[in-house]
Amino acid sequence: MAFECPLCNSYTSIQLACSTCGSALLDKGREADYYDDYSPYESFESVKMTDGYGLDEKDHECPHVLSCPECRTSVVYLIEEWMI
Ligand SMILES: [Zn+2]
Ligand SMILES: [Zn+2]
Repeated sequence: MAFECPLCNSYTSIQLACSTCGSALLDKGREADYYDDYSPYESFESVKMTDGYGLDEKDHECPHVLSCPECRTSVVYLIEEWMI
């Protein structure tokens, strides 16, 4: 049993709307990779897809930076990894 992030592996693409302006958010990649290439310039907001996670399941989430091309809002979204 293995867990893989569906976004990192291109199994799916994320379809979320910007909470500020409603435009489609773009996946900027994993949070760790993002910080390697760019300096953090805004405070990121952590968003969970579901509440009530146990501690174990936190290991199977992949933090992605999503940003809005229109208003430049950036959020870190925890992507649930898939059981492969
Ligand atoms: Zn990922
Ligand atoms: Zn926006």
